[in-house]
Amino acid sequence: MNKDRVTGLLAFEDFLAESQGIIRSTSEKYLYLAFDVCDFHYINNQYGYDTGDAILGRIADILMETKDFAIISCREYSDHFACLCSYDGTEDEFVNETLFIFKKHVSDEFAGSDEAAYLNLNFGVYFVTDKNESAISCVDKANIARRTGKGNYNIPCVVYSEHLMDMKENSAKIIPVFNDSFHNERILVYLQPKICSETQKLVGAEALSRLMDKDGRMISPSVFIPALEKTGKIVELDFYMLNSVLKLLKKWLSKGLEPVPVSFNLSRLHFFSESLVDDINALVEYYEVPRKYVEIEVTESVFFEEENVIIDKVEKLRECGFKVSVDDFGAGYSSLNLIGVLPVDTIKLDKGFVKGSLKTKRGNDVIKGLIKILNDIELDIICEGVETKEEEEIISNYGCKEIQGYLYDRPIPVDEFEKKYLQV
Ligand code: C2E
Ligand code: CA
Ligand code: CA
Repeated sequence: MNKDRVTGLLAFEDFLAESQGIIRSTSEKYLYLAFDVCDFHYINNQYGYDTGDAILGRIADILMETKDFAIISCREYSDHFACLCSYDGTEDEFVNETLFIFKKHVSDEFAGSDEAAYLNLNFGVYFVTDKNESAISCVDKANIARRTGKGNYNIPCVVYSEHLMDMKENSAKIIPVFNDSFHNERILVYLQPKICSETQKLVGAEALSRLMDKDGRMISPSVFIPALEKTGKIVELDFYMLNSVLKLLKKWLSKGLEPVPVSFNLSRLHFFSESLVDDINALVEYYEVPRKYVEIEVTESVFFEEENVIIDKVEKLRECGFKVSVDDFGAGYSSLNLIGVLPVDTIKLDKGFVKGSLKTKRGNDVIKGLIKILNDIELDIICEGVETKEEEEIISNYGCKEIQGYLYDRPIPVDEFEKKYLQV
């Protein structure tokens, strides 16, 4: 049998033939796993191909050493791996437990090294239902799932499902589902708390959308947002969310509660509209909600395009009394110059800082320095993606006290949020 020179794993063709043979000759339950390393080309560019190859070799070793994980594995090409695994329990157990153990072995192996910052793996899983399906078709489906989650730290593993993939691959299909949900009030508003790590008090919330199709299946933003952006429909969604946020704030105020500011996401497409500021103002006036309770999140990358047009509109929104924050700061190619000229209230540090940079000494120094600069120029800072107490402690010691992350809560339905945080 042929072996891959770099990893010692099976050659792809042999992997396909072997795995197909295994599945057809036994009665166990099987799945194909496809994964790759996020931004692997950075490792090659920064540390050279020898280091890149050594890392791929170590990942292959971990694959073989992790007990009861993969039956056989191969490297398809570059940093793309495929494995055949069997599983006894449920599909969820495989994704949340077995796969989690493998991921942990990989991050433990590289902990403390400079390359660790880049070693986020993207996984795609295809649970085999028909033993006669060809191996190549199964691997393709695992790869389609993998690509769906790619570049999104929220979704380290995507499980293939005909329904979701169909919509994801063909954005035209999501639009009728969106329209139907929109007209039948099946767009749900979830709230994620923003917490002060020193006082443990609620300081704000972000409104995030969820779509429910007519069969009651929940569709996540990673599936529908790209299609809505492509077609311009995102503008409707964002106004729907603003409307819902205002309704909610009005309800809280009328019950005598002191609300926290609630933010909503404003996609880049809005900035092409001449009437953006007037449209937002008209809604707020209709609901008679003080503007200090409404926060607008604008993704960092928006500020790189037609900077002056954007900055002008953002300034106008702030003059009206809205708070504006820069979302996903550091996810793209932030320039430090930008911080000095952005007319905003808050910088939201991207999840990537916690997931990547906190793993290395240099990364820690960068975040620490960045937080210091932001504090010196008196911008508010909030860190997204904080999942553990340790992460919170480090970020808080560096001077960022506000936290949004799974450590406190995932985005939750409004009624749950009200019960837990507002005693409504
Ligand atoms: P975002 O604006 O950066 O929102 C935060 C996302 O990070 C949410 O994902 C949230 O669930 C996730 N998150 C929060 N804490 C953690 C954590 O500790 N760990 C991890 N791994 N993830 C965490 P969600 O709700 O899936 O939304 C994904 C993106 O979809 C949002 O990213 C936003 O860009 C977009 N989106 C969602 N709703 C809307 C909307 O109504 N309008 C627009 N324009 N975009 C939206
Ligand atoms: Ca956001
Ligand atoms: Ca964000």
